[in-house]
Amino acid sequence: MKIHIQSKTYPAVGKAAVKAAIADFALDLNAGEFVCLVGPSGCGKTTLLNILAGLDKDYQGEIGGGQPPKIGYVFQNPRLLPWRTVRENIELVLAEATPASTVDALLDAMQLTSVQQVYPERLSLGMSRRVAIIRAFAVNPDLLLMDEPFVSLDAPTARQVRELLMQLWQQRPHRVLFVTHDLREAIALADKLVFLSASPMTVVRTLTVPIARNKRNDEAAVEAFRQQLKQDYPDINVLL
Ligand code: ADP
Ligand code: MG
Repeated sequence: MKIHIQSKTYPAVGKAAVKAAIADFALDLNAGEFVCLVGPSGCGKTTLLNILAGLDKDYQGEIGGGQPPKIGYVFQNPRLLPWRTVRENIELVLAEATPASTVDALLDAMQLTSVQQVYPERLSLGMSRRVAIIRAFAVNPDLLLMDEPFVSLDAPTARQVRELLMQLWQQRPHRVLFVTHDLREAIALADKLVFLSASPMTVVRTLTVPIARNKRNDEAAVEAFRQQLKQDYPDINVLL
């Protein structure tokens, strides 16, 4: 799937001038590929995901070839409906004919079976994030967008959710665009890293992560590769 956003500007509002948010973003996403976008706060990552999700149509560029891709979107905040149970929040995005076993399997994979009848207010943040991940996978998307979904989780919880996400993704290898400003997290997850400039966004460089999938939980291996990157490509330091 080829993505090329040539330009995105936000219109002038009140005293604020026209704001260039994306100068140029191009990426070719292979089937089943997990790509992490790494870039500083305010560089245009959420803007890009909103464009890809079809929520923002005011841009110049092309996404895919023909039909708009089916999107799963994990927002920065879980955005669960408070008056629906966990299970109902997931079922809402599914066609009525979807078998219950589809939801059962996803709940099981994210270790949420026991709380499926609970309302979101009773969930921890880590659990809410897992529900949001299920909801995005459940639609069987062509492209799964994840916007810093582990921000403000404590380190052990972030690690647990990351490992559950990896297991789920290896069972169902969708194309993923995962936004983070945490390089360790990106290395632990990605096939490919895309480093983004400060606003207006351009692609600074794209790198492949050479660490085997079964070694991604090895913090020493991740850290060694991070140090190597920072040494080999000093230009990425300013982006982190
Ligand atoms: P990121 O997600 O990388 O932190 P955003 O995509 O949220 O960055 O924002 C990119 C830039 O566009 C920022 O400078 C931000 O202030 C600006 N921006 C975001 N949304 C709007 C908007 N609705 N109107 C004007 N400027 C915006
Ligand atoms: Mg953002």
